[in-house]
Amino acid sequence: MTAGLPPGTRAVFFDAVGTVLFPAVSAPAVYADVARRNGLAVSADAVKARFVEAYRVQEGVDRAAGWVTSEERERERWRHIVSAALRGVPDPDACFAELYAHFAKPAAWELSPGVGRAVTELAARGLVVGMGSNYDSRLLSVLDGFPDLAPLRDRVVVSAAVGWRKPAAEFFREVVRVAGCEPGEVLFVGDDVENDLTGATAAGLNAVLVTPAVWDSFRSPG
Ligand SMILES: [Mg+2]
Repeated sequence: MTAGLPPGTRAVFFDAVGTVLFPAVSAPAVYADVARRNGLAVSADAVKARFVEAYRVQEGVDRAAGWVTSEERERERWRHIVSAALRGVPDPDACFAELYAHFAKPAAWELSPGVGRAVTELAARGLVVGMGSNYDSRLLSVLDGFPDLAPLRDRVVVSAAVGWRKPAAEFFREVVRVAGCEPGEVLFVGDDVENDLTGATAAGLNAVLVTPAVWDSFRSPG
C-alpha cells in the first residue's frame, strides 16, 4: 500500500475547483471589475453576497432536476449567477460573455501548492490519475495551461459532457469506467462534502476531503 491511500487503491481522481485549481483573483473581485468597466460601481463584497446566494439557488435548480446537466445548462447556470451578482449593470449579456471567457483561460487560475508533485509521483508509482469535475468544456482549455497536470489530462471527467453532475451516482460511475477498475479501487479527492465525499462514497468509491496534509501523504516517504 502507498502511504496516504486506502489499501487496494489503483486510481486517484481529483476534483478541480477548490481542490486542484483556485481562481487567481477571486470571482467576486473579477465580477466587480467587469461590472465597473461596464458601468456599474459595485464592491467585491456586495458582489460576493449576491454571488453566493445565486450559486445556492442554481444548486437547488440542479438538485430539483436530479443532477442532470449539459453544456447548455452550465451556460445558463452562469448566466443566471452573473445577472444576479451584477444586478443593475446596463448590459448583463456583455458581462456574462466577458466573465465566461475569463474563466476559460489558464491565467484566471492557480494550482494548489503540492498538487503537481503529488500527481507526478502517483503516476510514477503506477496509479491511474484523473480528474472529476462539475465544470464544462472550459476545464480542458484551463488544463492546457498547466503542464504539471499532464499525467491526468487523458482522464478528465467533466459533468457537462457526462450529462450528470456530482453528487449523482451516474457521474461517479463514469469516473470508475474511465479509471478502468472497480469502484472500491478508486480514491476521490475533493473539497465539497456533498458533491465529492458523500457522492463518491455512495457510489462505492473511497473519498477524502482535501487538506495540505493529503497532498503530503501522497508523496513518497523520504
Ligand atoms: Mg470543488
